[in-house]
Amino acid sequence: MNPTEFVDLTLMITGPTHLREEVRRAGSLPEFGHRDSEGAKRFVPIMENLKKIARTEDYEPILFNGSGTTSMEAAMRSLVGEDECVLNVSVGAFGELFHKLARFNGKDAVLLKFEPGKPVDPDVLEDALAEYGPTVVTLTHNETSTGVVNDIVPLCALARKFGAMPIVDGVSIFGGADIRLDEAGPAMYCTATQKSLGLPAGFGIGFVSQEALEKARKVDNRGYTTDILSQVEKARVNQTLTTPNTTLLNQMALQLDYIVNQEGIAERFARHEAMRDQTQAWLESVDGFDPFAEEGFRSPTATGVSAPEGMDLESLKRLKENMRARGYLFDPGYSKLNKRQEEAGKRLCFRIGHMGDISPEMLGEYLKVLQEELAKL
Ligand SMILES: *Cc1c(COP(=O)(O)O)cnc(C)c1O
Repeated sequence: MNPTEFVDLTLMITGPTHLREEVRRAGSLPEFGHRDSEGAKRFVPIMENLKKIARTEDYEPILFNGSGTTSMEAAMRSLVGEDECVLNVSVGAFGELFHKLARFNGKDAVLLKFEPGKPVDPDVLEDALAEYGPTVVTLTHNETSTGVVNDIVPLCALARKFGAMPIVDGVSIFGGADIRLDEAGPAMYCTATQKSLGLPAGFGIGFVSQEALEKARKVDNRGYTTDILSQVEKARVNQTLTTPNTTLLNQMALQLDYIVNQEGIAERFARHEAMRDQTQAWLESVDGFDPFAEEGFRSPTATGVSAPEGMDLESLKRLKENMRARGYLFDPGYSKLNKRQEEAGKRLCFRIGHMGDISPEMLGEYLKVLQEELAKL
């Protein structure tokens, strides 16, 4: 085994993301017993800081061993009852993931799909709510496959108007933008560590409301690790239900403290908006490239780029390898989406991740190198 063969690339993909040096170093802090008083030293500030970053008093955070999907699966298992219908609203691959999680857990689920690059159209959603009468609606806050950000406040309100309980997947935006959780008021908000929080993967994070906990009491077959009731019971005593990755808890304690007390929450959110604008300005400056997402719905954490006509999957692969030689991991796009785009004769979409602890300086340097490599293609 020769770990010096592990190449230290700067990850410009949409997760996992680049880690700050301090976060890497925190990986060598002491291991500890998660039921011991040492555990609380990490857990108490983690839970407090998660609530601060979500700007909420009312929601309770849960750490699920696993990843974002685990938290989403827990929402489906715990919050959709046997004879109920869940409407999975999708603007891309991750909206479809919620649908898969509903169906694989035996839920009666309907998929409402919007064109890639487009946000949810409230009028179409309204018709679907009237037609299917769902009790639960899932929404994707930030669709990582295309770089579309939905405005969850009016969409959650619309679901409520029809008596449905909204659940939001915010995996790739939490930590990079104000998620307006209290204002939107979903029953549960699902996220993870390895995207805009700038940490390694390892926990799904769920913010649960009192309403969600009450609802779960009436749902059968919630599973064990997917049961928000047994999970929240442990979270309330600063523990996880099953053995957590203590290395990640060390890193998380440090990183959340950095976000809240050093960088500042508002400053972090502003930095992400500035990087979205920076990426768009760059796109305007290069010929043939356009933002994939509709104007007004472009993500602060990931930009989908419409590649020029004629740029095929092969050239994106080559570009990826050329960028690797320059020290970067380039994101050639969500492969299922690009296959569909290619089959339909449409322009391909690659992605630029600017989440977590990527700085505007790093992004500027990356775009410069990318432009050089694009010119050589
Ligand atoms: C990455 C991602 C997921 C899946 O999360 P995992 O942590 O990989 O399980 C779900 N939804 C969105 C929007 C994502 O970006």
